[in-house]
Amino acid sequence: MRIHRIVPRTRAEGPGWRFALWVQGCHNGCPGCFAREMWDPRGGKETALSELLRSLRETKERYPELSGVTLLGGEPMEQAEELALFAEEAGKLGLTVLTFTGLTREGIASEGTAAQRRLLDASDLLIDGPYREEERDFSRPLAGSRNQVFHFLTGRIRPEEMKEAGNRVELRISPQGLLSGNGMGGLLAEAKLRQLYGAPAAGGSGEDGQEGPEGTEHERNAEDGAHGI
Ligand code: SF4
Repeated sequence: MRIHRIVPRTRAEGPGWRFALWVQGCHNGCPGCFAREMWDPRGGKETALSELLRSLRETKERYPELSGVTLLGGEPMEQAEELALFAEEAGKLGLTVLTFTGLTREGIASEGTAAQRRLLDASDLLIDGPYREEERDFSRPLAGSRNQVFHFLTGRIRPEEMKEAGNRVELRISPQGLLSGNGMGGLLAEAKLRQLYGAPAAGGSGEDGQEGPEGTEHERNAEDGAHGI
């Protein structure tokens, strides 16, 4: 799989502590996209599914409070075959699955591949639809534009949990002094801090494609508006 980045333990990508995985590659081409560096399917790092699963199991063992995985990017549906297996294994570990896509649930159900439908079936919450600059709206957690829809597919993630999770930004400084950010606005915050303090960026994947849960972490609620999910 082509992976842009992994944060094994974050509270800024959905309810509770989550293992967040950004895939590399997206052909949706949404104008105004904040993640253009994740468009090129040849970018990122080739990572075996077995390696991702080992990392997920180790994280869950080390941090039993881990409650879910979040799949984002990039376009998860472009690597649906392996991500569906990843999501199913996460489910067996008792973890919930939150999946983002620039496609729509209806489109996947009617015209998607078998693997895309399988990934849909393995997801507890799907946030779907392309980012539309003209409908830009950050009042809901993790969504960037009003057209995007929250599909609570199983009841294992509830709307109230999403509202409670809100929007957060996490910033990490590695022991080497590399700066990285995630959560809604995390990339923007990271860029701003780099500009202000000249700290080097950790890059998309870090040296080994992962960012450790340790390190100096500053976390704040960026906006707790979770209206009208
Ligand atoms: S689907 Fe996401 S990553 Fe792809 S172009 Fe749209 S906003 Fe960017």
